[in-house]
Amino acid sequence: MPATHYSIVKSDLFDLLARLAQTSRVFVPYSYDDKFHFGEFDPSKEPAVELGGIRQSQPFKSFLNPAREKVMGKEKSAVRPVIVAGVKACDLSSLILQDYVFLKGDCEDPFYAFHRNNTLIISCDCTYAKETCFCVAMGGRPYPTKDFDLNLSVQDGFFVVEVGSDKGRTIVNNYKTFFKDCKGRDLLGRDSMRERVSLQVKDFIKRRGTPDTAAISGNVKKNYDNLSLWQDAASTCVECGACNLACPTCHCFLLYDEKAGRDIGRGKVWDACLYKTFAKVAGNHNPRKHLYERMRNRFDKKFAFFPEVLKYFACTGCGRCIEACPGDIDIREVLKGVVTGKWNKPPHDQL
Ligand code: SF4
Ligand code: SF4
Repeated sequence: MPATHYSIVKSDLFDLLARLAQTSRVFVPYSYDDKFHFGEFDPSKEPAVELGGIRQSQPFKSFLNPAREKVMGKEKSAVRPVIVAGVKACDLSSLILQDYVFLKGDCEDPFYAFHRNNTLIISCDCTYAKETCFCVAMGGRPYPTKDFDLNLSVQDGFFVVEVGSDKGRTIVNNYKTFFKDCKGRDLLGRDSMRERVSLQVKDFIKRRGTPDTAAISGNVKKNYDNLSLWQDAASTCVECGACNLACPTCHCFLLYDEKAGRDIGRGKVWDACLYKTFAKVAGNHNPRKHLYERMRNRFDKKFAFFPEVLKYFACTGCGRCIEACPGDIDIREVLKGVVTGKWNKPPHDQL
């Protein structure tokens, strides 16, 4: 029975990524200010690579379902395999929903299926939590437990590596010299970091009073006709759609046709349910013409519809929508309103 855990020193990990980049497109998180963003691995920029930290600004879904993609009139060209390193648990836990929508419906989305099969995931534990993180309230953890090919846990100068799939096993087998035995004390170090970051997230949840899935359950439906709640929650929304676009679980898209000269093509772009025209249909009818209806719809889908059909709350607690919203609408405050039936927007300096 092969081992499931190994260790790899940092310099060997970067050598491994450079070797993998000879045959695949390798993406890693780079840090700038206090944020992280995926970019293609460039060995000359190694000091800026941060595999730990927290989730990146860009949701991982953008690798499986690009923000804009040509789906007809596409030139057939060889596509290299993709490897994404540093993916966080709150992005991995969105895959259950993305797979459900794009692979398990009446028909499979061939574009998503292609990217899903073509992408190898090297996830990484969070090494700290941000005030906006609330993954634990949504049933998650700040470290991956499934849906990765390899997982890394940052330790002092090295990483604990966990093998999560046959694809991950193939990498370990093909580059055996980089991977060393994992000692019991390495796993103890990993577990103690996991415990520390989990406690940090729990502390942020407690201080903010963020409700968990048990408290939220059933309350969106209960408050569906509590119009003042949804009107107040939506009162500062400017309909930019940033909350939808930044969200790892949001998946709505729009198909559009375009003509350039004699060429006709079809594109697929991310859509946002907060946009006024999102639900508009022929005859100019719009079933959600009021902004509060669209805000309510967002919460209904995430916290009532998907728990019902998939036993899954379509929020991973990543906190991206909190940072992205120019209207200072904080999902945690809306959820508190959903539980109590009242909207109590905190003073701006507490946001
Ligand atoms: S709703 Fe907000 S906090 Fe929840 S997964 Fe989406 S972006 Fe993250
Ligand atoms: S990010 Fe904020 S302002 Fe923009 S659509 Fe979402 S709730 Fe409205």
